[in-house]
Amino acid sequence: MTPLARVPAEPPYPEAERGRPEAQRLRPETGRLYPRAARLIRESRLSVALTGAGISTPSGIPDFRSPGSGLWEDVDPMEVATLSGFKENPQAFYDWIRPLARTIINAAPNPAHLALAELEARGFLRAVITQNIDLLHARAGSKKVLEVHGHIRRATCIRCYQAQPAAPYLARFIEDGGVPRCPGCGGVLKPDVILFGEQLPALVLDEARRLARHSELMIVAGSSLEVAPAADLPALTLASGGRLMIVNREPTSFDGQADVVIHDDVAIALPAILTEGLTGEARGG
Ligand SMILES: [Zn+2]
Repeated sequence: MTPLARVPAEPPYPEAERGRPEAQRLRPETGRLYPRAARLIRESRLSVALTGAGISTPSGIPDFRSPGSGLWEDVDPMEVATLSGFKENPQAFYDWIRPLARTIINAAPNPAHLALAELEARGFLRAVITQNIDLLHARAGSKKVLEVHGHIRRATCIRCYQAQPAAPYLARFIEDGGVPRCPGCGGVLKPDVILFGEQLPALVLDEARRLARHSELMIVAGSSLEVAPAADLPALTLASGGRLMIVNREPTSFDGQADVVIHDDVAIALPAILTEGLTGEARGG
């Protein structure tokens, strides 16, 4: 069995790839960077990945925090997706998030998620820090995932603060369109997703910062590095002498400080880096 047996050669998500024919093949101008990227991973004793919406778009999940994703067309984000807006009108929040929740439940990890899980399994990656709430890293097999914007794994009652696994509520909520209620007190359940203006989970963020500071390499995958905390973490790695590798379709403000910058589809580039430079290798000890 080859180490990459789980990573399909072709992107398995035709809807997401439609209209993007350039993503179907490796680009020669980025292809020449893969061996260098692989060498950087091999040479670094502690590496961490930082991922954003761009790693899940090949799985068909829109970048819901960005205007233009289609999810904000008829709503004011400050009304539906803030904590105060949620408490005032949970129905409006749930009506807004329902299509996104349905998309996430039906999505599958893509080759970029699988490549990061493979890197971790082979000892080349300590953790994934992600801005995504979609659980796709865990479903791809990543063990250590720091979800700085929360996740849809749990929901918490806004009255008694009891946490519930979200799975039993999710499917029903998507079907019947109601507002999920706490089985203990009947209060409204809020998914453990960080809303606009809400504080980020402190312990998770502390650990992400600690890892960023101690990493010899940060692999940025599918993040434009525009929003904090994603915008702060690469700076911590650089400040303590670590290096950056950036894989993102669009340029980022950190490109000039990175050792390797690959402007390509993460679902193409990350598996290619493994195939070209790290096949069969695992870190010993
Ligand atoms: Zn409750």
